[in-house]
Amino acid sequence: MTRQVVVVGGGIAGLTAFRQVQKHVGVDAVLLEASSRFGGKIRTTNFLGHPVDEGADAFITRAPWGIELCTELGLDGFLISPATSSAYVLVDGVLRKLPAGLVLGVPTKLLPLLRSRIVSPLAALRAGFDRFLPDDWPGDDESVGGLIRRRMGDQIAERLVDPLIGSINAGDTDHLDAALTAPQLETAARRNRSLITGLKAQAKASPSPQTPVFLGFENGMGQLVETLVNSVSEADTRTNTPVTAITRETDNLVVWTQQTSIECDAVILATPAHQAAHLLASCPRAADRLSSIEHASVAMVTMGFKRSDIRHSLNGSGMLIPRGEGLLTTAVSWGSSKWPHWADEEHAILRVSAGRAGDTRALALDDNELVETLLTEVANILEIEGDLVEWRVSRWIDAFPQYAPGHDRLVTAIERDLRSDMAGLFLAGAGYKGIGIPACINQGNKSAEATLDYLKTL
Ligand SMILES: Cc1cc2nc3c(=O)[nH]c(=O)nc-3n(C[C@H](O)[C@H](O)[C@H](O)COP(=O)(O)OP(=O)(O)OC[C@H]3O[C@@H](n4cnc5c(N)ncnc54)[C@H](O)[C@@H]3O)c2cc1C
Repeated sequence: MTRQVVVVGGGIAGLTAFRQVQKHVGVDAVLLEASSRFGGKIRTTNFLGHPVDEGADAFITRAPWGIELCTELGLDGFLISPATSSAYVLVDGVLRKLPAGLVLGVPTKLLPLLRSRIVSPLAALRAGFDRFLPDDWPGDDESVGGLIRRRMGDQIAERLVDPLIGSINAGDTDHLDAALTAPQLETAARRNRSLITGLKAQAKASPSPQTPVFLGFENGMGQLVETLVNSVSEADTRTNTPVTAITRETDNLVVWTQQTSIECDAVILATPAHQAAHLLASCPRAADRLSSIEHASVAMVTMGFKRSDIRHSLNGSGMLIPRGEGLLTTAVSWGSSKWPHWADEEHAILRVSAGRAGDTRALALDDNELVETLLTEVANILEIEGDLVEWRVSRWIDAFPQYAPGHDRLVTAIERDLRSDMAGLFLAGAGYKGIGIPACINQGNKSAEATLDYLKTL
């Protein structure tokens, strides 16, 4: 008997899940995507004649699922690594190079930290106390900020860790779950009295791999989406098809769109969590919990300049701006230094980010105001004199789920609600078990496995 499966949401998680279920004999699958394109937060478009990412531009290789998918899709030969990994942080209006020995912003070598002048000598000394302080692990549910403040002091938290981990998550590290957002740090701190000792032990146990830490694509991350979509080109995939509700009938699930309804045996729901909450209104317990997951918005302005108009050498991958600097800009990726193929020798491309949890100022500005404000800030720091050659604004509204302490238990509770009230419906995507592309791919695969296992029980 043929079983019907509907996958809702065609971002990387939904596409991965769909690819797995549609190839299964005895399964009839359809992928429904609300917008006019697949890829969700992965979007590569033309800028100054080159494919330049508007959102994600690389994925981390420490988690295997990104590389595994690329290998399956025959994309190995197109993977490239950033040309540079050094970066800067703005401290009291001055750019300071990040010192050697940082792990997710945590200094493991105190001399380079002291020399960097990112924190005061007293704060560097305080960071070193981590080696001698008693074990003060407060138990589960600690925030990243809480962990760093107690082991290393406030300046390390505010000038190094929050700018780095905060910008990856568009979050405030004082409110992000350490175990979920920075598992490497949390494990080191939990298993050792000293965080520095723990991180050093980790480094010793797994020496630097041959593979680069990050990988991207010659033609931008869009190449991954395009190849994934091509790999399912024979299957039933539909864009411009927003799902409006999902309900449970006695024998099956029903997926409602504006035009029609589809009866099916199982659903993989791979939309952002706030959308999932709307679609599951008929399952109020899960919907309430889903809607309690907060999301932050980001505006990314891509700016093109004549290279000769920028005095700074742009000798790194970019710069981070701590909250305490009081700017609208949160981070600037020096795109054409990181990915030299993004621009010809005459031009430089910067990707300037604004907006994070607790800072919605960018949302209130129209595109012209936003570009003007960010340009003024960035031009000041990098000593830019000429006009913009080209610019574009990419607004990512409610794009970054915030994993508050206890987020994993919340997700477990949602899954329990769904098992009892919406059997056959499985969640996947950035809202639940990791926001990075590899984690979303893994969730796509796992939700497909869970779906196929469920179908066997019918
Ligand atoms: C600016 C930015 C930069 C980032 N940089 C990186 C990076 O460098 N590396 C990295 O690993 N990660 C990065 N990320 C994170 C990563 O890109 C995302 O977490 C990931 O792509 C999310 O994938 P997803 O499939 O879970 O969700 P999404 O990409 O959000 O896909 C969900 C899909 O569901 C669709 N949808 C929504 N509602 C409905 C509905 N009612 N019916 C049907 N379809 C619906 C949406 O249109 C969308 O296509 C970045 C994110 C952003 C925003």
